Amino acid sequence: MNAEKKTASETLLRDVITQLCAIAGTCHPDLAGALAALDEAARDGQSDTRLRQASTTLSELTARGRQRARPEGPLTPVARAGAADGDTTTLIQGVLRNLAIPTSLESLARDIRQALDRNGGSAPKRDLVNQTLHLMAEAKAHGEQRHRELQDFLKATVGRLIQLENAVTNVQTAARSDGEELARSRKVRQAQFIQLRSITAETDDLEQLKEFIGERIDQLQGHLQQQDEAGDEKQRRLEQTLIELGTQVSQLSAETVTLRSRLDVTTEEALRDPLTGAYNRLAYERRAALEVARWRSDNGKLSMVMCDIDHFKRINDTFGHAAGDKVLKEVVRLLQEQLRSSDFVARYGGEEFVILLNGAAEDSALQIAEKLRRTVKAAPFRSRGERVPVTISCGVGTFGGEDTLEAVFDRTDAALYAAKTQGRDRCVPSVSKAA
Ligand code: GH3
Ligand code: MG
Ligand code: MG
Repeated sequence: MNAEKKTASETLLRDVITQLCAIAGTCHPDLAGALAALDEAARDGQSDTRLRQASTTLSELTARGRQRARPEGPLTPVARAGAADGDTTTLIQGVLRNLAIPTSLESLARDIRQALDRNGGSAPKRDLVNQTLHLMAEAKAHGEQRHRELQDFLKATVGRLIQLENAVTNVQTAARSDGEELARSRKVRQAQFIQLRSITAETDDLEQLKEFIGERIDQLQGHLQQQDEAGDEKQRRLEQTLIELGTQVSQLSAETVTLRSRLDVTTEEALRDPLTGAYNRLAYERRAALEVARWRSDNGKLSMVMCDIDHFKRINDTFGHAAGDKVLKEVVRLLQEQLRSSDFVARYGGEEFVILLNGAAEDSALQIAEKLRRTVKAAPFRSRGERVPVTISCGVGTFGGEDTLEAVFDRTDAALYAAKTQGRDRCVPSVSKAA
């Protein structure tokens, strides 16, 4: 290498180092290719043209990078100073001072420093320059590695943030009722993302970026946790409401049972005659409707007996009203005693009773009525030590053909009237429509 060429190479090297100093540690991705070309050209050491080209490209990129990033970074004055005094040793020292040297390259940097010291200010040998370029290339590679790490980290972080974002959105969708909370947390997240974007653009310090993102994630998680807790609280309230509702339902159901049985009692009371305990006229009307319907649908047998105590007024008049009541009660007891559970007895009014005989044709009904009449007549009614003669008269009607309840009722009533007019203490069958 001749002196002129050496001078040209040194000038180029100064330029290169100046550019590298300006960008060292930034590892901008656009510069990666230019740095690689520069490294190769410097290693070659033969072609100044390649070095010049690489230097030009680097200058352009650096100029762009400076416009984009920091115009007055801490590296520039040192590099400028080094370039100005034309001292290669100073330039290399500047590189060593400003280059972000990874741990793995510290021993190489130390070796270069020591070699420079040993040189005692005289121009460094080509080997030392090459070692410096190698150090810079390695630092660049390390920087690129850090850049890749950063990208991976950012990718993973963005993925995590998106997951969190989705989770937050899900919780918010579930808790859509709180519109203000939704808007507030959306604003917080937007601010966080804007901050994240700007700090990512401004810094290349991986640790700072990691720290920032970590903080943002913590905040977001905190935010999410708050929402979860709010959701949990809502869930707890919902469960509590459900428990309370369940309790209320069981209480209501218990009350319904009580009410139902009370209603049953009330209904039963409403259908009973308080004096005798027999069913009353209302009960008769309901039961009669049912029995007639069943008779019609089953094409079965159904008869009616109407009983009236003979000369009851006289009993009252003779033995007193209380004795009359006692007679009424005792007559009911006797009638019920003689009848089957499927039969039905109601006190229709005063001292008059209606009996429905389910499954009884006219003959049977008449026999039953006769049995009732005999039973009452034979019963030992007594008042104030005196025997009270009590008899009943009965009309007997039987359902047939297209009979209605009213028709049979009227016929039976007419039969009772006949029994009365015929002398009382007797049972008279009704004259059927067909007859
Ligand atoms: P008949 O043989 O024609 O049926 O004559 P009767 O006296 O039984 O009939 P009437 O209709 O003339 O009299 C019925 C009496 O029954 C009149 C009424 O005071 C009495 N009575 C109605 N309800 C009660 C009651 O709850 N207790 C008492 N002790 N008497 C009653
Ligand atoms: Mg009577
Ligand atoms: Mg009467």
